[in-house]
Amino acid sequence: MQAIAQKQQDAFDVIIVGAGVAGLYMLHRAKQAGLSARLFDAADGIGGTWYWNRYPGARVDIESFEYSYSFSPELEQEWHWTERYASQPELLRYFEHVAQRFELYPHIQLGTRIDSAVYDEARGQWAIATQTGQTYRARFCVMATGCLSAPKVPDIPGYGSFRGDCYFTSRWPHEPVELAGKRIGVIGTGSSAIQFTPVAAQVAAHLTVFQRTPNYSIPLRNRPMDLDYEKRMKAGYEQLRRMQWRSPGGFVLVGGEPRLPLTTSALAVSAEERLSEFEARWQAGGLCLYTCYPDLMTSKEANETLAEFVRAKIREKVVNPAVAEKLTPRNHPILTKRLCADSGYFETFNRDNVTLVDLQETPIETITERGIRVGGREIELDVIVFATGFDAVTGALLNIDIRGRRGQSLRAAWQDGPKTYLGLMSADFPNLFNVAGPGSTASLSSAIPCDEHQIDLVMRLITRSRNGGGAGIVEPTHAAQDAWTERIQAIAAKTLIHESNSWYVGANVPGKPRVVLLDLEGFSAYIDVCDGIIARDYEGFVFESAPAGVPAEDSVALA
Ligand code: NAP
Repeated sequence: MQAIAQKQQDAFDVIIVGAGVAGLYMLHRAKQAGLSARLFDAADGIGGTWYWNRYPGARVDIESFEYSYSFSPELEQEWHWTERYASQPELLRYFEHVAQRFELYPHIQLGTRIDSAVYDEARGQWAIATQTGQTYRARFCVMATGCLSAPKVPDIPGYGSFRGDCYFTSRWPHEPVELAGKRIGVIGTGSSAIQFTPVAAQVAAHLTVFQRTPNYSIPLRNRPMDLDYEKRMKAGYEQLRRMQWRSPGGFVLVGGEPRLPLTTSALAVSAEERLSEFEARWQAGGLCLYTCYPDLMTSKEANETLAEFVRAKIREKVVNPAVAEKLTPRNHPILTKRLCADSGYFETFNRDNVTLVDLQETPIETITERGIRVGGREIELDVIVFATGFDAVTGALLNIDIRGRRGQSLRAAWQDGPKTYLGLMSADFPNLFNVAGPGSTASLSSAIPCDEHQIDLVMRLITRSRNGGGAGIVEPTHAAQDAWTERIQAIAAKTLIHESNSWYVGANVPGKPRVVLLDLEGFSAYIDVCDGIIARDYEGFVFESAPAGVPAEDSVALA
């Protein structure tokens, strides 16, 4: 892995934190615009999510033709995906290829955790400090720290006392992990666990799944890449991208055909027609049930038709009716927690070497030295895998001590919930961009198109901030921020999102304010809003003139 040689330079036009999907594209755009830039990442490699989440079974659940960068037609044509849904190692190879191809590595400093970012009002600059005490300065700071990157520390009694091996799916080791012949316990039944479980079951002596909340999951139907399909997709890339950017989720493929969401209510069609639509999408695989009827997220009655369809599928798949019932979600509407996509998850519970422990019946009493005690009995284990999720959307950002104007801390400003304009910037934190931040459509929509769109907007804001003698300082107004923050909650209030205790509303982290963290109106609507704001000369943003006394070498030289 290449990383830059430590140079003397410590002042840049742009500092980027995070070498994942967003950080890499931001660096590419900054370079293209002639800005000096450095990208920092705590990891020893690039790839963000795909660097850390290397657990067995990890793969993307949006088709790779859609979960890939759109900014370079040459890259689209030259890259060959070997499977419809790329696995984690292939995704990592893709991002490494991108970094190599667009000559990003010389500007990337790995193994460097950023501890703080402090705005120096006099100079109109950010001072970014690393964990090891170095400080770098930049006019613009782009936090590309990811929505699902700060692992949640499990609030489980006895955590830390187990003498066997413990792993987090979100921090899976880089050395080979021996799971074969082991008694493995996995805690959690979210997307990560649902991918890990079927793979682990194939090699474990015994696998025990500790389930607190059963989850809805759809078959992924991954398969090796068919060369005719690849040819067709590559020939139609332009149209596919156009449709992605006009869709609420940033993905449109249904069984290999691009399709925009239906517009009729699920309740306006006959039960027969509805079932046939659900069945077609179930057979197509992946997350395309998201793009089905528009009222699935707003009408309880409509939602229940889909929930009941999936419940029936679980009953068909799981041989033991008592186990099937435990695996059947009944306490939350479908889609109000992130829908999972699996490769044989429910079928895994038909295996003799797999046991489901329902934590609603028998909660975990404690983790012990030898295993996990539930319902008065100790289940002895060799390995515990925590697939317990993330402090989502705000976690990674607030792990950095960010101070804006007047030394004001972002943690304090967001103590009752995050406040942003467009999920991208906050008032009193000039020139600080939070890509895929709270109030954006990130994570609800496919990450790559959302990140590309937001970063294109960041570049426009940077450019606009320099126009007409500006000092390169941009910041949203409090009024625009308040209106956006209210808008996010108002949109959410019309949906069923509050009916589940998900990370979408911060409910998975004790003490986190319970507010909706994402813009539920979706990607295409978000693009339209941004276009309107740009057309009205960046309504809601203020651009400053240069602070007096800023040394010339600190000023931004934009191409
Ligand atoms: P998650 O969806 O938050 O799931 C965490 C699981 O751990 C839940 O089942 C949760 O139960 C359980 N849990 C947490 N604390 C627990 C405790 N103290 N005791 C018992 N159980 C506990 O996390 P994730 O599976 O890592 O997925 C997070 C997100 O990452 C997904 O929603 C998705 O957006 C993304 N992801 C995507 C992919 C993909 O694209 N292929 C793969 C993995 C992840 P409760 O439900 O009861 O809280």
